[in-house]
Amino acid sequence: MKAAQTIFLQEMRPPDFFETPIEFLKGVGPQRAESLRTELGIHSFGDLLFHFPFRYVDRTRFYSTREINAEMPYVQLKGRIVRLTVKGEKRRKHLSGLFQDEAGTLELKWFQGLKWVMQSIRLNAEYVLFGKPSVFNGTVNVIHPELELVSDVSQEAASSLQPVYASTEKLKARGLDSKGILRLQRQLQLQMSPSLKETLPQEMLRSFRLIDRRKALSLIHFPDSAESLKQAEVRLKFEELFYLQLRLLQQKLVRTEKFRGMNFAIVGEKFNAFFKERLPFPLTEAQKRVIREIRQDLGSGNQMNRLLQGDVGSGKTVVALMSMLIAIDNGYQACLMAPTEILANQHADSIGKMLEGLGVTCALLTGSAKVAKRRAALEGVADGSIQILIGTHALIEDQVRFKDLGFVVVDEQHRFGVQQRARLWEKNVNPPHVLVMTATPIPRTLAMTLYGDLDVSIIDELPPGRKPVTTLHRTDHHRLQVWASLKQEIEKGRQVYVVYPLIEESEKMDLNNLMQGYESICRDFPAPNYHVSIVHGKMKSADKDFEMQRFVKHETQIMVATTVIEVGVNVPNASVMVIENAERFGLSQLHQLRGRVGRGAEQSYCILMSSYKLSQDARLRLKAMCDTNDGFKIAEMDLQLRGPGDADGTQQSGLMDLKIADLAKDSQLIQVARDAAMTLLKQDPYMDDPHHQGVKEQLSQVLKKSGNWGRIS
Ligand code: ADP
Ligand code: MG
Repeated sequence: MKAAQTIFLQEMRPPDFFETPIEFLKGVGPQRAESLRTELGIHSFGDLLFHFPFRYVDRTRFYSTREINAEMPYVQLKGRIVRLTVKGEKRRKHLSGLFQDEAGTLELKWFQGLKWVMQSIRLNAEYVLFGKPSVFNGTVNVIHPELELVSDVSQEAASSLQPVYASTEKLKARGLDSKGILRLQRQLQLQMSPSLKETLPQEMLRSFRLIDRRKALSLIHFPDSAESLKQAEVRLKFEELFYLQLRLLQQKLVRTEKFRGMNFAIVGEKFNAFFKERLPFPLTEAQKRVIREIRQDLGSGNQMNRLLQGDVGSGKTVVALMSMLIAIDNGYQACLMAPTEILANQHADSIGKMLEGLGVTCALLTGSAKVAKRRAALEGVADGSIQILIGTHALIEDQVRFKDLGFVVVDEQHRFGVQQRARLWEKNVNPPHVLVMTATPIPRTLAMTLYGDLDVSIIDELPPGRKPVTTLHRTDHHRLQVWASLKQEIEKGRQVYVVYPLIEESEKMDLNNLMQGYESICRDFPAPNYHVSIVHGKMKSADKDFEMQRFVKHETQIMVATTVIEVGVNVPNASVMVIENAERFGLSQLHQLRGRVGRGAEQSYCILMSSYKLSQDARLRLKAMCDTNDGFKIAEMDLQLRGPGDADGTQQSGLMDLKIADLAKDSQLIQVARDAAMTLLKQDPYMDDPHHQGVKEQLSQVLKKSGNWGRIS
């Protein structure tokens, strides 16, 4: 019955080309279909069509063996294999081939499938070879080359850019290596209707000089020249980015319409009293500007969702505090959520101090709070007697019920997941205003995408009197000198951090490493002249706190720690940050750690310790750190080095499903796409215009695929 029904429906309305199940493609049987689904997530014609080549081999040019060096990307050569030898024993066994052309010879190597390679290669026959040259033991060679008999190379392929597709071992076993997939793509092109629907309005194509969709989807697989490939790429990237931005901007639009924001019309007593009497320092221009921006939002009647970016030490806390006071002046409560207990404690301390005598009640709630204290906090928050609640993740638990929460601050927001933040919205019937703060600067284009539906404020100025931190790279050979300079600094009354990496995969080893480091520091910096604290993630939180407090109170001069101190800790007297195994940290992490020093008026130092031998990437990272203190420059570089997949927060947002656009490299196009999306939404927010019908349909397709991100992205 069910089957009959399906057939009936199919007859009535033939499935959309894109939705057609992949097994209906000629050349794909049930087994291949299954492998395509499980291995590459290709379920339909559309999925295959959007399985773009990840590179193209330039088959218009042959290189000679003399020209080859390891810096070259994939190259094509023509020649004969004159010898094949099995080398090495057991697990080191591999196959070595000698490839010869008119200019000379080149070694080929195989480590897998030796038997199959030996059987299939014809000695002394003329081959076309593709491969990526590499260096081994000082000589250039090609590992696992692709080989094709010259007699088999088709004329068409030899004169064009040949696409190369990602495949897997399982697919290869079913004949779907890159070439096999290419054959399927060719078949698919034949079945693709010549009048494939365009998804962008004609005037957009015209004004951005984009080629049409059908043509782009064809050229991306079968480019007839480098230029046409470029055109296809631009068109497809633009489309991808345009719908991404459209979705973000529309989400924002819907949200402002749907949720009436609480209107904080009054900037009243507490705010003014704080500003006039309690402010410990004059605000920087940047701080003033951001507070103005926030005040404007709060009084606009719309719900605020603002991202505050400011480099470490730029003074975000006081901005958060003053914003919370506006909420309190309007009769609402506020809360501040921090990612670690250390940081929550510190905020409670410093905010508590700043609020002294102001008549604002403030409480702390963390996971380790004692029962009685916890109950007091919960009750106070529920009956409204506590106006500001500061804490960790404990704040989002269900038992925490506010009388009337109006303002939420999330500090170091990259440490929290989307879900966690979203739950703070639900602490009031009407969602509170939200300010998320981050000290991990995000390059502008990435911010536009990651936080595309948030408004962004930036503190781009440090409080006056700060001396830039001097950063040095030292290897283990310099240890004695480094230790001597630490002693000098301590003599001058300064304090020192020594940080060790602690990452999950090798936790045990790292912990040993840390403890050994701690012991050797205790030996080299003995009591009674020196005292050393230690803090790491495996300690009980009370112990952590105790050790931290000893350092804060200057009872100890050296703090040995893991990256638990990475975020937010503020000890202005600490002027040296030593980072051990610095090559193991990412750039933003190094920058965050460096931000722990340079908070006082003294000259501060960050010393990056590493072994002498370093990978190219690690060397670049350490050099970047020594060259600049600018968090935004560091972030740009981080994005270039690591790619956006590793940037903070990108994983959770699902943004990395981008098929062709690259958030790191396509920044200009992101801007153009965003502007285009904004213009369209301004003209026609709900896309009622028949000209925008295609856009509307495509957007709903995109939404269906990507799911809902929740109310906060
Ligand atoms: P972050 O932005 O990293 O959270 P904080 O808010 O912790 O920075 O501020 C870092 C330090 O700078 C704190 O000791 C704070 O008191 C101080 N500070 C903040 N704003 C100013 C200012 N306008 N003038 C002088 N010091 C300031
Ligand atoms: Mg901070």
